[in-house]
Amino acid sequence: MKTVGIVCFRNDLRLADNLALAAAVQDCDFVLPIFIWEAKDSWAEGGASRWWLHHSLCEFSRSLKELGAKLIIAKGNFKSTLLPLTSELKATRVYWNRRYDPFGRREDAEAEKALQATGVLVKSFNSSLLHEPHLVLTKSGGPFKVFTPFWNNCSTRIDIEDIKRPPRSITPPEAAIASLSVGDLALEPKIDWASGIRAVWSPGEKGASEQLEVFIDEMLEHYQYGRDIPSTDQVSRLSPHLHFGEIGPRQVWLAINKACVGASKSSELRKSADIYLKEIGWREFAHHVLFHFSDTADTPLHAKFKSFPWRKDDMQLKAWQKGQTGYPIVDAGMRQLWQTGWMHNRVRMIVASFLTKHLLISWHEGSRWFWDTLVDADLANNTLGWQWASGCGADAAPYFRIFNPELQGEKFDPDGTYVRRWCPELNKLPSKWIHKPWKAPKDVLESAGVELAVNYPEPLVDHAFARVRALAALDSIKSRD
Ligand SMILES: Cc1cc2nc3c(=O)[nH]c(=O)nc-3n(C[C@H](O)[C@H](O)[C@H](O)COP(=O)(O)OP(=O)(O)OC[C@H]3O[C@@H](n4cnc5c(N)ncnc54)[C@H](O)[C@@H]3O)c2cc1C
Repeated sequence: MKTVGIVCFRNDLRLADNLALAAAVQDCDFVLPIFIWEAKDSWAEGGASRWWLHHSLCEFSRSLKELGAKLIIAKGNFKSTLLPLTSELKATRVYWNRRYDPFGRREDAEAEKALQATGVLVKSFNSSLLHEPHLVLTKSGGPFKVFTPFWNNCSTRIDIEDIKRPPRSITPPEAAIASLSVGDLALEPKIDWASGIRAVWSPGEKGASEQLEVFIDEMLEHYQYGRDIPSTDQVSRLSPHLHFGEIGPRQVWLAINKACVGASKSSELRKSADIYLKEIGWREFAHHVLFHFSDTADTPLHAKFKSFPWRKDDMQLKAWQKGQTGYPIVDAGMRQLWQTGWMHNRVRMIVASFLTKHLLISWHEGSRWFWDTLVDADLANNTLGWQWASGCGADAAPYFRIFNPELQGEKFDPDGTYVRRWCPELNKLPSKWIHKPWKAPKDVLESAGVELAVNYPEPLVDHAFARVRALAALDSIKSRD
């Protein structure tokens, strides 16, 4: 009797180093690849992610077709879609790579139970993390809440010699299975707002490996310094590819280490590589935290922040979202996000601090906006980033550390290249004033064509005032320690 297996793809849209796919091809005579578009709870994919997913699915369908298989696309509940399909195909095995977010874990557990009850064997794998969250624990058996001990504990245990190559071919079952088209999922926006995103990204496995190659060849060596300068983009820009599983962390780990073969421990290349791999470690940590504290996407890890006196101010929130705060480094970041679906990490920290400390608007509002506008929106990384910036999460920056956006701009964008790119109305301002146009003399503003409150806003809030207000808000919850 020939064996039929189903492989369920989710955020693992790649052929290489995909353990579920490799196992199915090895175990089964016939393999059906399927993607089920599930109606999610409150964290359904945002607009930019949906755009990415559309293109990633198109690319992945093409890759599977070259191997002889068709990606079946379905829409609905994971378990209820899979169960009838296994009986229609007489499939005896179902394969998937494990999910670690609260929704995915729940759905997978239910589906596994139901499939096993009908005699179907479920085989699941880890293809998206270097270490599964439940396997990294403190001496007392609990989860980590601080990055350094977490990373000390697990980074030395990473030993990757090789990765699974893509299968040479896939033999699909003979039965014709009904499928939607990628377009039927209606993931692309009805009004085309994505031209800026389209111009800078290539979703899909090929785009991901090309991006990694360019990063290693052209940027890796200088990453330790370059990663702090937003105008140079000397970072890997792999985040959306990693989120959608178009490349896996094991592949990244191996490629980075291979690039360092022959380099001494003290070489610039090795130092930069270690700093880069530590960032992959932050991704691991974020998934660890969300796995063990599954309500943190909505609730601060530090309970006292539940009663923090956040302000509600729709006008100021909108100004932040649209990059109209009057602080150039904040505005440049928010416009980069809006136009390209991505923002440099250094600037993410600055804009998040500005929202939660200068404007005293809740990190929820920020994480929701990022969720909708980032192509790399990732529940674990986004939650950790926002809770870090607002002081209420794991290994967070203390709330009393309040970035001064003027000084942050001068430090990380000294000649204003980044600001000039995203805020062209400030382009002609001399570097001395580029991060503080409200302090510039009238004649300087005039000759640069800047009219405050006319073509560029006055600061939404005064820094010194905002600082005192934020610290007072912090004081009000201190007694709840
Ligand atoms: C407020 C805030 C929100 C964020 N939201 C997200 C998000 O939704 N999705 C997301 O992928 N990252 C998020 N980050 C983390 C970080 O900003 C991005 O991962 C990074 O900017 C992506 O660019 P890159 O791929 O060039 O990063 P690189 O510097 O090249 O780093 C390589 C990879 O390491 C991982 N990484 C790097 N920094 C972090 C970090 N601080 N936390 C977790 N993983 C990290 C990412 O997977 C990244 O692709 C957020 C950070 C902040 C401060």
